[in-house]
Amino acid sequence: MRFEFATSTRILFGPGEVRAVSQAAKAMGRQALLVLGRPPESAAFLVDALKQEGIGCVSLAIQAEPSVSLVRQGVQLARREQCDLVIAFGGGSAIDAGKAIAALLTNGGELSDYLEVIGKGQPLQNPSVPFIAVPTTAGTGSEVTRNAVLASAEHRVKVSLRSPLMLPRLAVVDPELTLDLPPALTASTGLDALTQLIEPYVSSRANPLTDGFCLEGLRRVSRSLRHAYHYGRDLTAREFMSLASLLGGLALANAGLGVVHGFAAPLGGMFDAPHGAVCAALLPHGMAINIGACRARAPEGEALRRYETVARLLTGKPDALAEEGVEWVLQLCQELQIPPLRSYGIQERDVPTLVEKASRASSTKGNPITLTADELREVLTRAL
Ligand SMILES: [Zn+2]
Repeated sequence: MRFEFATSTRILFGPGEVRAVSQAAKAMGRQALLVLGRPPESAAFLVDALKQEGIGCVSLAIQAEPSVSLVRQGVQLARREQCDLVIAFGGGSAIDAGKAIAALLTNGGELSDYLEVIGKGQPLQNPSVPFIAVPTTAGTGSEVTRNAVLASAEHRVKVSLRSPLMLPRLAVVDPELTLDLPPALTASTGLDALTQLIEPYVSSRANPLTDGFCLEGLRRVSRSLRHAYHYGRDLTAREFMSLASLLGGLALANAGLGVVHGFAAPLGGMFDAPHGAVCAALLPHGMAINIGACRARAPEGEALRRYETVARLLTGKPDALAEEGVEWVLQLCQELQIPPLRSYGIQERDVPTLVEKASRASSTKGNPITLTADELREVLTRAL
């Protein structure tokens, strides 16, 4: 047994914990770049609290999933305003943008020097400026991961800026911040969280630490995602989902992902489709094809046993077969009204390009079994 586990320096979890941000920030800097994924008025309380601690604030609003050009713009703004601290308040988009900006502020050169796939892929040399991540959705777990996913319009692809030096200094997970999430966003982000618990659990890089996080997270999702969707103001359901999202982040950052995220990267680069919604549409089909491939080529393997455990946790049936987990997820997607990929403009003719890109995506390397091109095509076609 051999593994590494790395995460954010400090994690605060609980209703109302957002109030701890300003105090913690005081020890980290004097002028904050506040990256906002929500309307500025929703963060007014945070700006006030920071001011009371003597910390200046410059805001950068994020409208969509972050792009290479937005990060460049953020770095310029932060340099001009002499920011020595970055705080992200929003969903995965705001957190990834903040994480990338915090990294670029201490590392010279161009963003492209450090990007994988479309850039030079050089390693970052210096730790980021202190970075605080405050998620307002329950899905990405980005507050504890070491990468930022950025879209390049020019290359029509999503790529990662990745380094252990990018791990946030502080992650503040406050479930109360998710109470107002509309049902559609609760559904797509919640299914992203579920995907990020299943894929690391069956991943070829899973380890005993990440297994524990995944199993606990799966129990929480199975009991709370439906409830959070139908009764958004239920704090216990929101608390369970925030925890599940955090656990998924801890797991994926250390055990990798699989074929669903392997498709999500090129899909998100080529189409204007939100990450969570893409993962949600693909999840049951990725599971079904993986289970079929394992039954055919590795019937005695560990992965099949793990899919069985997933099915038992999700359905609550102690003797459930792996396939019953797929059925449970399919029904959940139906109940939560997850739209098919077609609704984002993805068509049959895009399949070959996407299959080719997914086969080379870094997430696909964590998939428990190597899928053939036909199997990859089947995952995508079923999700259309
Ligand atoms: Zn995801």
